[in-house]
Amino acid sequence: MSLPLAPRENTGPRDTGPLIRIETDRRLGHEWDEWDGEPLPNAGDFTSTGARYFLFTALGLVIVAGVLSLGVFLLAPRLAALVSWLPRALYAGLAAFVALGLIWLMLIGIAFVTGRAVLPERLAERGLLLRTVNLAWRVGELFGVQRDWTDHASVVVYDRLALARSRTVSADELLILIPRCLSRASLDGVLDIARRHNVSAFVATRGQLARRVIKERRPKAVVAVACERDMISGLHDVAGRVPVLGLTMQLPNGPCKDASIDIAKLEEFVQKYLRPGSKKS
Ligand code: SF4
Repeated sequence: MSLPLAPRENTGPRDTGPLIRIETDRRLGHEWDEWDGEPLPNAGDFTSTGARYFLFTALGLVIVAGVLSLGVFLLAPRLAALVSWLPRALYAGLAAFVALGLIWLMLIGIAFVTGRAVLPERLAERGLLLRTVNLAWRVGELFGVQRDWTDHASVVVYDRLALARSRTVSADELLILIPRCLSRASLDGVLDIARRHNVSAFVATRGQLARRVIKERRPKAVVAVACERDMISGLHDVAGRVPVLGLTMQLPNGPCKDASIDIAKLEEFVQKYLRPGSKKS
């Protein structure tokens, strides 16, 4: 097992042993720039089902089509002056867009409920799904739902779809990516799993470094740990190139410090990807 580290960028480091070092002071990731210093809702635990993703994505499709229809309606006289059938064609296109979007969402829902791979990856978690998650949290915010709840729901749906694929890799083809904000106990848990399964674990202090690690190590699969909003941005960057399972964290002391994770779930994800009996060369 190797545990290379991302460069350290701050003062006040605490040397925690020969393999790994963590920062003890809080340094906000840019995803949390607007944090006001107040405790996070529900002590930073945004656990939720996938339902919010489906609800807000469906609403988002309807809202987008509604806004575009309004635009067509307002411009209809001018459009009709150009080509008489143009407004009708645009209305029909928008209706088709909503219908196809809702059918796609229904297929994602079937895959989610049954745990079966209904659609190819590019039409599901490694493609179209990722294009809709920002729509989902933005619609959620329109209804007063903080984005982390919706992002958590989106990651739940993403993972469920990713888990439905029967992909396994050897230990040296798998990578565990963790953020710099884990609590000591969680970090020890990750290291224990990495050691027992002989898998490399990297601390990636920023998405950019995570991308670099993936480019250099060329893993065939990744288990990534991050807060909800960093996970969504990381999945956008990486999931199209390499299969990823994402584990979100709890932030009892606010963002970017002392985060905790479900260690059992992390191990479940690692085992899901590991080919039985595979050994690191
Ligand atoms: S993963 Fe941790 S360090 Fe990165 S933005 Fe989220 S809370 Fe902050």
